[in-house]
Amino acid sequence: MNAYESMKLYFTRAADRLGLEDSIRKLLLTSKREVQVQVAIERDSGELATFVGYRVQHDNSRGPMKGGFRYHPEVDLEEVRALAALMTWKTAVVNIPYGGAKGGLAIDPKTFSSRELEAVTRKFIDGIHDIFGPDIDIPAPDMGTNDKVMAWIMNQYGKYHGFSPACVTGKPVEMHGLPGREEATGRGVAIITLKVLSRLNRKPQQSRVAIQGFGNVGTFAAKFLSEAECKITAISDVSGAYYRAGGIDISAALRHTAEHRGSLEGFTGGEKISNAQLFELDCDVLIPAALGGVITKENAPKIKAAIVVEAANAPTNVDADDLLYERGVFVVPDILANAGGVTASYFEWAQNRQHYSWGLNRCRQELDHILGEAFQNVWDVGKEHKTNMRTAAYMVGIGRVRRAATLAGTM
Ligand code: NAD
Repeated sequence: MNAYESMKLYFTRAADRLGLEDSIRKLLLTSKREVQVQVAIERDSGELATFVGYRVQHDNSRGPMKGGFRYHPEVDLEEVRALAALMTWKTAVVNIPYGGAKGGLAIDPKTFSSRELEAVTRKFIDGIHDIFGPDIDIPAPDMGTNDKVMAWIMNQYGKYHGFSPACVTGKPVEMHGLPGREEATGRGVAIITLKVLSRLNRKPQQSRVAIQGFGNVGTFAAKFLSEAECKITAISDVSGAYYRAGGIDISAALRHTAEHRGSLEGFTGGEKISNAQLFELDCDVLIPAALGGVITKENAPKIKAAIVVEAANAPTNVDADDLLYERGVFVVPDILANAGGVTASYFEWAQNRQHYSWGLNRCRQELDHILGEAFQNVWDVGKEHKTNMRTAAYMVGIGRVRRAATLAGTM
């Protein structure tokens, strides 16, 4: 089952519980607009290279559409379409005034020089500048893109439309970015994890946490959870996993990655194990914070964690999700667990429009407040309808989008 089919299945389960008519299901599952553009640049070798860029704008019933740009060789229209719809439900779950969108380029950014990356980004924006903007659709970073790419986007967009920092979020702090945006997704994962622990009567000090992925999301989730006294017993990245029963020293791991270009390779603060072993560790909380599709029907029966918090987008395959549910594993879905990033993007956009900056403390307070409310809401719906957190989160998100679409009279 591909990403779009999985999203559609989760949508259908929630739509059944909400009693949504077929006509409304079709409306909510059909993208508003899907754009595909040719992106041609001259490589450093002098060769002409042509790529395909996508932007899918899924729904704007609740506000301008919002979603990242992904640079990855496997980007295709079907994946972007699924991720755009996920953004619609995610922004609705945290109740920020946005719809959903997603975009991407089918390139491997690791094989691009900085000059090539800038050229391909500017060419992509040339192709789509007239369909996005502060009141229409606001891109942000995703896999393979970062604050530097967002700065090029703001600059290129400005060449057509004038000074518009709110046309894109996730920009460098020195260029109208938000202090706190970088940490926001990982901080959100930590906030939601602590809420679940509290609801399930578990103490952070007695909770052992294993985290797959030690990039932007994984590092900040590890940092905030260890500050809350959780024991981070395993961390990992593409180089492998590192396990210490007594808890990994996260400050030491962060120092190691700072000195080794972001990699954990050679980290001696834990026994080296494989990423596959990390999933099977005896722990309380498992946090996949790397790739999609890593929890499968093969490894789901071996997961010993009582709680899975989906920091990555779509880390659990549908059949694995059903197996975890049958086994009583408490799964917090991606559209709630990793919504801290888009929430902080909303703060950045709002501040850009006011030409005013809040500062880090206020950003953290507002983020904690919005995620706390979203968690409570999804929890309550789950209890009321006797369903799991994923279906409850989809019910909250889809219900809000449906109400906004009805009130606007778009039907
Ligand atoms: P990142 O590129 O900063 O980090 C990814 C990490 O995963 C790296 O440590 C990398 O080494 C590791 N990794 C890659 N392949 C691996 C493998 N096969 N096994 C183990 N580890 C592997 O990415 P990120 O921004 O931290 O995003 C991680 C996930 O969170 C993605 O699924 C992304 O879509 C999702 N997400 C990110 C944000 C955000 O604000 N960054 C927001 C929402 C969702």
